[in-house]
Amino acid sequence: MAQTFDVCIRGAGIAGRTLALLLARERLRVALVVAPPSGGAPDVRAYALNAGSRGVLEALRCWPDEEHATAVTQMQVFGDLDGRVVFDAASQHVDALTWIVDVPALERRLAEAVRYQPMVEVVSEPVAAPLTAICEGRASSTRSEFGVDFSVTPYAQHAIATRLHCEHPHGQVARQWFTADGILALLPLDGPDGHSVAVVWSVAREQADGWLAADAEDFTARLEEISQGALGRLELAAPRMAWPLQQAVASRWCGAMPDGDARSTARSWVLVGDAAHNVHPLAGQGLNLGLGDVQALARILQERGYWRGTQDLRLLRRYERERKAALAPMGLAMDGLQQLFSRPEAPVQVLRNWGMNGFERFGPLKDWMARQAMGLAQRSQA
Ligand SMILES: Cc1cc2nc3c(=O)[nH]c(=O)nc-3n(C[C@H](O)[C@H](O)[C@H](O)COP(=O)(O)OP(=O)(O)OC[C@H]3O[C@@H](n4cnc5c(N)ncnc54)[C@H](O)[C@@H]3O)c2cc1C
Repeated sequence: MAQTFDVCIRGAGIAGRTLALLLARERLRVALVVAPPSGGAPDVRAYALNAGSRGVLEALRCWPDEEHATAVTQMQVFGDLDGRVVFDAASQHVDALTWIVDVPALERRLAEAVRYQPMVEVVSEPVAAPLTAICEGRASSTRSEFGVDFSVTPYAQHAIATRLHCEHPHGQVARQWFTADGILALLPLDGPDGHSVAVVWSVAREQADGWLAADAEDFTARLEEISQGALGRLELAAPRMAWPLQQAVASRWCGAMPDGDARSTARSWVLVGDAAHNVHPLAGQGLNLGLGDVQALARILQERGYWRGTQDLRLLRRYERERKAALAPMGLAMDGLQQLFSRPEAPVQVLRNWGMNGFERFGPLKDWMARQAMGLAQRSQA
C-alpha cells in the first residue's frame, strides 16, 4: 500500500526540519520535501539563538556542541556618538544571554536526526497530505502559487556576512556598532576562548558590491576602524556573502488548499518561519521567531481533540493569531531601530544616543527588552 502522510512539509531549512522532527515525535507521519542541493558555498553565517530556540533544539538532541554554540555572557551596543547599552548575563540571572550557533553545524545535526527518524520520509516532490506546511523561506514559490499576498518593505541595505580571526579573544562578548553608514555586529565563535567572530554588517545597498569585492585588507581595516580596535587586528577567515534586507509579512498564514490543486479536498496549508515573515537581522531574531512558530504549531496540533485532523482550520487560525501577536512587537522594534539609525540629521543623532544612555540607566525597560530578546518573556507568562 502506498505510504500516507499526516503532514507534508515543503522546505528543509532549519524551520522545516525542526518541525518535521517535532511532529514525528507526536507520531505524525511526515513527508519532508527537500530541494535539490544548490551547489553553492556553505553558509558563512552564525545565528544568535535564544533560550527558547535552544530548548526545542536540545529536546530534539540537535543542539551543537560548545565549540559550535558559543554562549554570550555580555552584549555591548554602541551608538554613533556616545550612546552605549550593555546587557549582562549575570545581571539578568542567566548563564548566557544568547548563543552564537554555527549554521552548517546546526544544519548537519538536524539532517542527521531526520535521517534516523522513521516517521519522516524525505521526498523530492510535494505529496498529498491533510496539512501542507510551507517552510520555503522568504522567496517561497508555493506561497505565491497559493495567491497569498506577501507585503514586503525593502530596506535600502544589504547584510554582508563573513568570519574573522581576531587578535584578542572575544571574551564571550557580542558587540554591535550603529554608525552613520551601517550596523556592524561581531559575534563570538569557537567557544569561550575563541579568537574568531561572525560578522553581520548591514551597509547601504550601493556600497555592498564594493565591500564584497574590496581587498581583504581594506575590508578588515574598515571593520577595525568601526569596532575601534576592540578585538585588535582582524583577518578575513571566510568568503563574504550578502543578503538584501527586508521586512515582510504574509497577509494570511493558513487556508484551504486552492481548488485548482488536485490534492485540495479537505486539505489545508500553513506558513511557517521566513515564508510567513521577515525581520531585519540587527537583533538576530528571524529564526528565533521561526522556531517559535514551529513550537506553537506542533503544540497546537498535539493538543487537538482526537476528532480533529491536522488540517482543521480552527487550529491553524489559532496558530496564526498566536504567532502574529508574537511577531508584531519584534517587527516594530527592529524596524523602529533601523529607521532611527538611518537618519543622518544631527539632532536625530544626538537624540538617539541620548535615548540609548537613558535606556541603559532605566533598569526595568532594559530588563524587559532583554527578556523578550532572550525568548524568556513568553515562558514566564506561560
Ligand atoms: C545576514 C543574516 C543574519 C541573520 N542572523 C540571524 C540571527 O542571528 N538569529 C536569527 O534568529 N535569525 C537570523 N537571521 C534570519 C534567519 O536567517 C532566517 O530567519 C532563517 O534562515 C529562516 O529559516 P527558514 O527555515 O524559515 O527558511 P530558510 O532558511 O530560507 O529555508 C528554506 C528552505 O526551503 C527550501 N526551499 C525553498 N523553496 C522550496 C521549494 N519550492 N521546495 C522545496 N524546498 C524549497 C530552501 O532551499 C531552504 O532549504 C539572519 C538572516 C540574515 C540574512
